[in-house]
Amino acid sequence: MLHKVLIANRGEIALRIIRACRELGIATVAVYSEADARAPHVREADQAVAIGGSPSSESYLVGERIIEAAVRTGADAIHPGYGFLSEREWFARAVRDAGLVFIGPPPEAIAATGSKTAARQLAISADVPVVPGTTEALRDADEARAVAEQFGLPVLLKAAAGGGGKGMRVVRAFDDLASSLESAKREAQNAFGDDAVYVEKYVEGPRHVEIQVLGDAHGTMLALGERECSVQRRHQKMIEEAPSVAVTPELRRAMSDAAVRFAKAAGYVNAGTCEFLLDRDGSFYFLEMNTRLQVEHPVTELVTGIDIVQWQLRIAGGEALPMSQESIVPNGWAIECRITSEDPANNFLPSTGVIRYLQAPTGPGVRWDGGVESGSEVSLFYDPMLAKLIVWAPTRDAAIDRMHRALLELTVDGIDTSRDFHLRVMEDAEFRAGAIDIQWLERRLESLVAVKPPAHVVARAAVVAAVLAERERAAPRKVVVSAGTDGGAGSAGTRQPVSESDWARAARLGALR
Ligand code: ADP
Repeated sequence: MLHKVLIANRGEIALRIIRACRELGIATVAVYSEADARAPHVREADQAVAIGGSPSSESYLVGERIIEAAVRTGADAIHPGYGFLSEREWFARAVRDAGLVFIGPPPEAIAATGSKTAARQLAISADVPVVPGTTEALRDADEARAVAEQFGLPVLLKAAAGGGGKGMRVVRAFDDLASSLESAKREAQNAFGDDAVYVEKYVEGPRHVEIQVLGDAHGTMLALGERECSVQRRHQKMIEEAPSVAVTPELRRAMSDAAVRFAKAAGYVNAGTCEFLLDRDGSFYFLEMNTRLQVEHPVTELVTGIDIVQWQLRIAGGEALPMSQESIVPNGWAIECRITSEDPANNFLPSTGVIRYLQAPTGPGVRWDGGVESGSEVSLFYDPMLAKLIVWAPTRDAAIDRMHRALLELTVDGIDTSRDFHLRVMEDAEFRAGAIDIQWLERRLESLVAVKPPAHVVARAAVVAAVLAERERAAPRKVVVSAGTDGGAGSAGTRQPVSESDWARAARLGALR
């Protein structure tokens, strides 16, 4: 069993890991940058070590300093969370070389799956279907053309070292191949220091469905079912759910078997995810393996009842998985919305500033995995994801209604967030019907963010707002004022609805009256 774990991360995921450690009786060490000196994860951990400047290149990405902090505080293991150093083979190796446990797969498994071309070769050898294409980097545009002629257009150029959608180009005309290859290579070189690019068939209108796996060091590898992650913007996930409307028990078994075969072939241990494209005809193709905890792991936890982070810690401590594959059956439905500091009405422009007031949703079936609080400063140094709002309900319809209700409860004053975008998605007929694929959001986005409340709602809301203000004057209610720097914002009775959904909420309050 582990005794003390250093968490090499920040924000919501650092808090998530601290919680799992605490429930297992494991002591925790946080690390933090200058900008994070007063962050919740620093306060919640048993110990905290300052590791450098605000840019992550001076703190959360400086592996040696993090390992040194672990050694100095007597930690016996490091949990990397996601992002930052979580998928760096050299870091996993350096942790091991320092005599510490890396809470994740062995460095050899990261190496075997880290390059998309190597992973494709491994998948083929494990009899796991991949998207038709090359398994080696392209030499030149002529070779790209020959492949495109063989598989047909459109094709997708992809960086072998890729991640986060970088170094990817869809090519729909032969004439564009050479220039797209050049720009993909340039972007890959800049982002990953490696310009290797390969080509695969571009699948039109598939879903992104991924399988969570969990393996121990004693030879057991389990699949915890699928997550549907098709609601994406610029190849980035925004909303995830488990299970998927498109996955039957038979398909779940086939995809789970493929994921387990791949993970075993990679010598995988601990939690990992095999990502697949699910075509409209039910065929699926392996995309890549993410060798870490995923942002969207909570939806799987909620439908399986398995605490993935606790099991990461227990597996790293040498425990064997006691459950059987047959016992893992999804129960009910879970949905996650990524709450980011971005303005959906303004092309998702990042928003920065101090959160003057934050009220997280609560109530039945609601889980808030957040990394900020009232008074937190949101800067441009880190990822814009502030929190994940996750709900569980017996059915998909009920989960969508519950998410809508929870989003209405969410109040963030001081910065823009993606809340209203998520509300619009929960109200969308196509989303509610489950008619989504990876291009759905791009097609739908403009109409989703352009939605304004209908005129009668606004008119009624104005009346309701006046009534509420009148009541406030008659019997002032205690209004929580945030710990923001200006001190006076939001005094009793004067708070105006701040967004279209607040108007809608005010209108509904009126309807209940
Ligand atoms: P990254 O590692 O950069 O995230 P992925 O290979 O995981 O790259 O792909 C990211 C997203 O791009 C997928 O979730 C999917 O939406 C889309 N995508 C990837 N490969 C294809 C393909 N062959 N055809 C169509 N869409 C694809």
